[in-house]
Amino acid sequence: MPTQPAVAPIPEEKPGAVEQEQEKPGAVEQEQEDDPMAAKWKTGDRVYAVWAGNGCYYSATVAEVYPNRTLMVNWDDKELSHRVMRFDQVMEPSEESAGWSSARIDRRVTVKDTPEKGRCLFVNEACEPGQVVFVEKPVQVALPALSQKLWNAMQKLHEAQPLNLGTITFHFAALMSQLLLDKESIGIIMDKFVPEPDEDAGEDVTRILQTIEENLKDVWDLKEKPVDPRDLQRLVSAWRYNSFGHHKEDGLVLYNRISMCAHSCDPTCCWSYGDDDAFVLRARVALKAGDELTISYLQDEDLLKSTAVRQQKLQNWRFTCGCQRCSLRVDLGRGFRCRRCRVGILYASVDSGLEPCRVCNASPSQEDTQTLLHLEEEYVLRVENLDKTDVADVETVYQAAIDIFERHWILYVMDTMLWEAYREKSLADAMEHQRRRIEFHEHYYYRPTFILAWCREELGDSLQTQFPQRKWHFIQEFQRAYQMLAILCGTNHQYTASPYNKLWQASTAANNSTANTANTTSNNGSATGTTVSTDA
Ligand SMILES: [Zn+2]
Ligand SMILES: [Zn+2]
Repeated sequence: MPTQPAVAPIPEEKPGAVEQEQEKPGAVEQEQEDDPMAAKWKTGDRVYAVWAGNGCYYSATVAEVYPNRTLMVNWDDKELSHRVMRFDQVMEPSEESAGWSSARIDRRVTVKDTPEKGRCLFVNEACEPGQVVFVEKPVQVALPALSQKLWNAMQKLHEAQPLNLGTITFHFAALMSQLLLDKESIGIIMDKFVPEPDEDAGEDVTRILQTIEENLKDVWDLKEKPVDPRDLQRLVSAWRYNSFGHHKEDGLVLYNRISMCAHSCDPTCCWSYGDDDAFVLRARVALKAGDELTISYLQDEDLLKSTAVRQQKLQNWRFTCGCQRCSLRVDLGRGFRCRRCRVGILYASVDSGLEPCRVCNASPSQEDTQTLLHLEEEYVLRVENLDKTDVADVETVYQAAIDIFERHWILYVMDTMLWEAYREKSLADAMEHQRRRIEFHEHYYYRPTFILAWCREELGDSLQTQFPQRKWHFIQEFQRAYQMLAILCGTNHQYTASPYNKLWQASTAANNSTANTANTTSNNGSATGTTVSTDA
């Protein structure tokens, strides 16, 4: 059984903005066009196939192939229903994790120029939530191991006098592109969005090239393989604005199609890593043909912060987000307790005012508004500087804050700290903070996220320990966690296996006492159980 990760598998770095990109050269890969009409299944093939009972994919073996492009499978869990299906309801086990050919990706998506955001990505056909839109292989993975000597030398240089950019990873990646990639692949990276396409080589680039020339002739002889400093600068920026942090090591990954995917604070897509650093893009919501594909450049937890904070963080990629959430007049993540009735909530609006109370309907006075907004500034600063290991201090700030704020993102941040602090020591306290985290998340941003799924799963764990007689309750939490993770990373992912297995065990146990509960979950359950066990 995989252990449940504490944080979402979202890397530190996110891809850069995609505005104003120029035409890109042809695709790098020269792979065979995979014809979707070609007959490809034969008896004995290991597959994932759609079980019509619930429309999910489960593992199976092809038992018989029929001439009308249908086939029959043997389900791994010996299930006997819904064994016959169409070819297009069957996929290879690696279909959702191994990179697709660029031809196949281009059948699924289109790059289009938009007036506001430059080149963006659109889907060519409808996708269900959780369905894989495509899986893309990286153009390059730049890890220190590619040239340990160069990495070490650059680290020394950075220690002697820090690079202006504050990190060596982007420069190292750009050097690796120059050193290791063919012309076509370099062209793809050069073509990525950068804020200043005509930028001159900066001091960092000059220093690095000098070091290579003086000390690293054995790694890179610049006379034999010269570098145009301006090209190198462009590559550094391309990596800076378009790459993702590697999920395991101190390095970067860059993709071609994915870097065209624009940001939204309510993205239509979600993603996870597949085989060999492949980027698995899934629909987060139901997509229609022609819909734009967006991802979040911000971590899940930042999507729960106010519009102003999100906008400020997105300045890293040098653009102002114009998504629907950012365009709302009232920010429902900045709530204040009504000073008149002490029951209702006043929400902040974009024009630096406060909306009338939603319970007593009173509008706060100019003076009250000023006081509250001023207090908010102070508390934001305090919360941003809290040491989460100093639980007593977090408690003090939290106690004072709940008197002023309600449904405010800073309370969510402190609920997270306190939940973490109490989860080992005091289950009842931890559960209350977990419940409040869920409540805020669903109030402010009700889409599947890894945070929300794991909150649900852990709340299920706590309930199971605390109230073992309330089976309906923790089963419901595991079910929600499972459904959300199935959308976020697929039914075959180890993250999804975790709540699934709990659900299955709980409903099997429930089966012995309460037949009704078991009936509602066992259909969904048994087939997935097999998928999970083959995966683990
Ligand atoms: Zn936004
Ligand atoms: Zn009120």
